[in-house]
Amino acid sequence: MNKRILVTGGAGFIGSHLCARLLSENNEVICLDNYFTGSKSNIIDLLRNPGFEIVRHDIINPYNIEVDEIYNLACPASPIHYQYNPIKTIKTSVMGAINMLGLAKRVDAKILQASTSEVYGDPNVHPQKENYWGHVNPIGIRSCYDEGKRCAETLFMDYHRQNKVKIKIIRIFNTYGPNMNPDDGRVVSNFIVQALKGEDITIYGDGSQTRSFQYIDDLIEGMIRTMNTSASFTGPVNLGNPDEFSILELAEKIISLTKSKSKIVHCSLPSDDPKQRQPDISLAKEVLNWSPKIKLDEGLVKTIKYFKNKM
Ligand code: NAD
Ligand code: UDP
Repeated sequence: MNKRILVTGGAGFIGSHLCARLLSENNEVICLDNYFTGSKSNIIDLLRNPGFEIVRHDIINPYNIEVDEIYNLACPASPIHYQYNPIKTIKTSVMGAINMLGLAKRVDAKILQASTSEVYGDPNVHPQKENYWGHVNPIGIRSCYDEGKRCAETLFMDYHRQNKVKIKIIRIFNTYGPNMNPDDGRVVSNFIVQALKGEDITIYGDGSQTRSFQYIDDLIEGMIRTMNTSASFTGPVNLGNPDEFSILELAEKIISLTKSKSKIVHCSLPSDDPKQRQPDISLAKEVLNWSPKIKLDEGLVKTIKYFKNKM
């Protein structure tokens, strides 16, 4: 075995791909999850590997284990799920970060935080670079997630400065792919499931808001490369695909790729929904020698195939 690695949120969408990749590189992987949005079906196949273990645990409570590395992913990521119990969402981000940083400090493990483009809020700088401090509403319905993640970044930097904990912070932009929960509520999975079922495609607002969509395999490569950077590199580093699309363009693409008869309907736009989002990835290019390889059409075809098989 290579390293022993803890993945919190390992049964979720990103976590399950990360566990698979780390196992394929001959590491021992402990997947910790409370199954709030994750699912055992995402990781069941990995259990055949003797290097894989699962632990039901909630990271708002301390957890002890001897590991070399920690990837801290535990946190609901879809607005409907993180807004379901906003106080719990903040506890997960903040108390979870304190617990995992405390663990990293005790066992001298390297720890990576899955932060988010949401730290930029509804950005008035475009595209977003890591040195942009963001435009975030501290009291809105998205704040439990955005401010929780911002506080987690603060904790990571303070544990690094005060206690010399070896940290890495990545800011993930909208990512999609197989293993997303059909009820996840985020735009790509919603539109694909609706298109395949022939149901109305629900665009919130007029669909002119933009997002830049990254396929899961590109993100996983970027995460591993970040973890393997030299000790002096802490991030934050943006990981995302700079190809930007409006939500209306995304809906039209998915209707065309699925050859669906679904009609587009417009629903009300949730408050504080960011109008635009696009990563500047010059830092990731320079430090990680990384850039996304998979175009939106190619990634959507793979994701549509996954959901077709699930239905
Ligand atoms: P997901 O909801 O599929 O996965 C989150 C996982 O964390 C789930 O398995 C859930 O059960 C688990 N979890 C939630 N609260 C927990 C707690 N208190 N204790 C233990 N486990 C808990 O979402 P995802 O898309 O895989 O996101 C993973 C991480 O990446 C999250 O931290 C998210 O904020 C971050 N992120 C994701 C995206 C994206 O586009 N997918 C973008 C930015 C940031
Ligand atoms: N969205 C939409 N229809 C849906 C789900 C989402 O129009 O069924 C919109 C949402 O309002 C937002 C964009 O798609 O403008 C991305 O939403 P998602 O929840 O995927 O991610 P986030 O807003 O956190 O980037």
